[in-house]
Amino acid sequence: TSLSRGNNAVQGTNDSSIVSKCSMAGRGYFQDPYLQHFVAKTRRRAPLINRGYYVRAKAVDHMLRCFITHTGANSQVISLGAGFDSAYFRLKAEGLLQDTLWFEVDFLETMKRKAALINNSQVLLDVLQLGQSQMGSEGQGHKQTENMEANIVLDCSDFKMVGVDLRDTGHLERCLKMTGVDLTLPTLLLSECVMTYIEPKSSSAIIQWAANTFTNAVFVTYEQILPNDPFGMVIGIHTYPDADSQEKRYRELGWSSVHSMNMNHFYTNILDLEERRRVDTLEPFDEYEEWHLKCCHYLVLCAYRGSCSALSQDMMG
Ligand code: SAM
Repeated sequence: TSLSRGNNAVQGTNDSSIVSKCSMAGRGYFQDPYLQHFVAKTRRRAPLINRGYYVRAKAVDHMLRCFITHTGANSQVISLGAGFDSAYFRLKAEGLLQDTLWFEVDFLETMKRKAALINNSQVLLDVLQLGQSQMGSEGQGHKQTENMEANIVLDCSDFKMVGVDLRDTGHLERCLKMTGVDLTLPTLLLSECVMTYIEPKSSSAIIQWAANTFTNAVFVTYEQILPNDPFGMVIGIHTYPDADSQEKRYRELGWSSVHSMNMNHFYTNILDLEERRRVDTLEPFDEYEEWHLKCCHYLVLCAYRGSCSALSQDMMG
C-alpha cells in the first residue's frame, strides 16, 4: 500500500538517532545509563554532532520534567515515533514516574525490535519492574485481548508499546484505548524528530487528531525548521520554513495556545551558566559559529489545551 512505501528508510532514522544519542551520553553531555542497552555498536560522533544531540536531549527532557512535576499524580506521556528512545527508563529509575502512564508508538517492526532488546536486558527489565506487579509481553499479567493484540507489543502496568503507523489515527486511537489510555487525563504527546518524516497532510491529521481527542494536553514537538541544512546533516523531507508558520499550523489544527523556541534560545536562556560551562569542558570545540547557526535551525514547540495550558510559563522558562 502507499502507507508502507518508504517505511524502511524512515525506520532507519531511528538507528542513527540512537547511536548519536549514545555517543553524546558517552562523552558525558547527558546522563543516561540506559541508552547503551539499545545500541549494538557504539560510534563516536564529532563534537558538533554531540552538541546537537545534547541540546535536543536537554530540551525534550526539560519539557518532560516540567510536565511530570507539575501534573503530579495521574498523567500520561505518549511518545509518537518513539524509536529506541530511553526516556521512560531514565525517568522511572529516578522515581519520577510514580503515577504516570507511558505509551510508546512506532512502526510494528521497530517496536518489536525494541521489545526484544528490553527482554534481553536485565538492567532494563529491572527498571520496568520497579514497583510493578504485572510484567512482560508474554509473561504473567499480560492482558490478552481479542482484537489488534498483534499491535500491542508490550503491556505492563505503566509502560505500553504500540506498533502502528501514525498515519492511521483511527487505528492508533483504538490501540491506545486497548492499552488503557484515558482521554481526559493530563497528557503530554511527544514527537521528537518524527513529523518531518511524515507527509504534511498526514502529520497535520495527527496534530489535529491529538487536539480533538485529548481534553487536557500538551503536544511537544522537537523539529528542524528552515529547509536548507548548511551542514549536510540528514534532514527530513518535510520542514516548515520558520517558527511562526509552525506555531500558526498548530493553532489552526485546534490547539488553544502555542509557543516555541529555537535551540539558541533554549541553550542561553533555559540552561544555566554552570551547565554551559560544564559542556564546554567536555571536548575540544571551536566551531561556535556553526553551532549557533545549527541551533537556530531546531526548535521545540509546545501546543496546549485545557488544564495543560497552565504549563506554558514553566515549559517556556
Ligand atoms: N523519537 C525518537 C528519538 O528522538 O530518539 C526516534 C526519532 S527517529 C529520527 C524517527 C522515528 O519516527 C523512527 O523510529 C520512525 O520509525 C518513526 N516514524 C516515522 N514515521 C512514522 C509513522 N508513520 N508511524 C510510526 N512511526 C513513524
